[in-house]
Amino acid sequence: MNDCIFCKIIKEEIPSNIIYEDELVLAFLDIHPETVGHTLLIPKKHFQDMDDIDEETYLHIFKVAKMIKKQLIEKLHCDGITLMQNNGDCQDVKHYHLHLRPYYKKKEKMTIDEVFERIMH
Ligand code: 5GP
Ligand code: ZN
Repeated sequence: MNDCIFCKIIKEEIPSNIIYEDELVLAFLDIHPETVGHTLLIPKKHFQDMDDIDEETYLHIFKVAKMIKKQLIEKLHCDGITLMQNNGDCQDVKHYHLHLRPYYKKKEKMTIDEVFERIMH
């Protein structure tokens, strides 16, 4: 997919703050975070949405989501995590992605670079 922004992130044609990577998936910080540590988890192969993605990758994404959830709670001390995945007209980027959005009882403020530093160290 030539014009897919997430494929470009995978190919490192555009920069992102990658917090996890394996042979099937990539997780990086959302450029417009709804909350501190808002993360996107995507398959490396281009699938559009929930109907399109293959079962192996789909199951793997949820396995990795468990690890990332743990990592975000440990590093950012958030009080909860919401998982969300848009399909159809409410999906802006047409490359399957699972949102992991931390929840804080007390509102947190941090730049993406600060969040990245905190998660990776
Ligand atoms: P959707 O509405 O498709 O579920 O959400 C797309 C998400 O991708 C949004 O939260 C948006 O901020 C994020 N996003 C869009 N373009 C980029 C980008 O170039 N880099 C990063 N890190 N996130 C992006
Ligand atoms: Zn793509």
